[in-house]
Amino acid sequence: MAVTRTPFIAGNWKMNLDHLQAIAFVQKLHWTLKDAKHGDDSVEVGVFPPFTDLRTVQTLLDADKIPFALGAQDLSTKDSGAYTGEISGAFLSKLTCKYVIIGHSERREYHDETDEVVAAKVQAALRHGLVPVICVGETAEDLEKFGASAVPVGQLEVALAGVPAGADIVVAYEPVWAIGSGQAATPDQAQEVCAKLRDVIADKLGPDAAAATRVLYGGSVKAANIASFMREPDVDGALVGGASLVVDEFSAIVRFQ
Ligand code: PGA
Repeated sequence: MAVTRTPFIAGNWKMNLDHLQAIAFVQKLHWTLKDAKHGDDSVEVGVFPPFTDLRTVQTLLDADKIPFALGAQDLSTKDSGAYTGEISGAFLSKLTCKYVIIGHSERREYHDETDEVVAAKVQAALRHGLVPVICVGETAEDLEKFGASAVPVGQLEVALAGVPAGADIVVAYEPVWAIGSGQAATPDQAQEVCAKLRDVIADKLGPDAAAATRVLYGGSVKAANIASFMREPDVDGALVGGASLVVDEFSAIVRFQ
């Protein structure tokens, strides 16, 4: 039986929009999408604000019945205790976060997150009922040396070690050279790597998980190129950075069909 995967358009705000700006932004986005089909059964829309905005955005989504999924951009490998500055997955689930981004290339690069740290964060997310959005991708140098898929495949293999077959996860293929550069991968390139990542999921978690798991593409996604990615059979959505901060642009991405 063919499995239908609900497309997922996820906005990674990174370190942008304070909690007051977040209110205005989410209200406007909701308004521009009010006649668009979205929500869990057509296109799932996710917003990933900074930690300090989460409570405010949660309250707004709740009060106005806005069908956006809420996610955080990172979490601690630990659950509680003397870890100054860290945020536990337990706190994120209490805030009704559904998702948490793990292993974004900016965390790997600026915070020295290794594949092992990423794997520990995936376990932490699952312990607290959060769906990890596991980011993998090659740098320009990796691309030249090893081709597009070797590094992301290796990163995903480590991240999925110890993940149970039935776990709910999302994978995001984000070539580092495409992030914030304005130079997206071609749909063919994205498809090729996303298909290989799906093979890794099949290998580690089984064919049912591979059929059910959403694999996103990220890196300079905008309204003008989203449809070409979404036509690819193994691309189930997008993780959007810069364009997720512009209401009309993000709204047009959600309406990719
Ligand atoms: P970008 O970022 O859309 O600005 O390229 C994507 C990301 O970092 O998730």
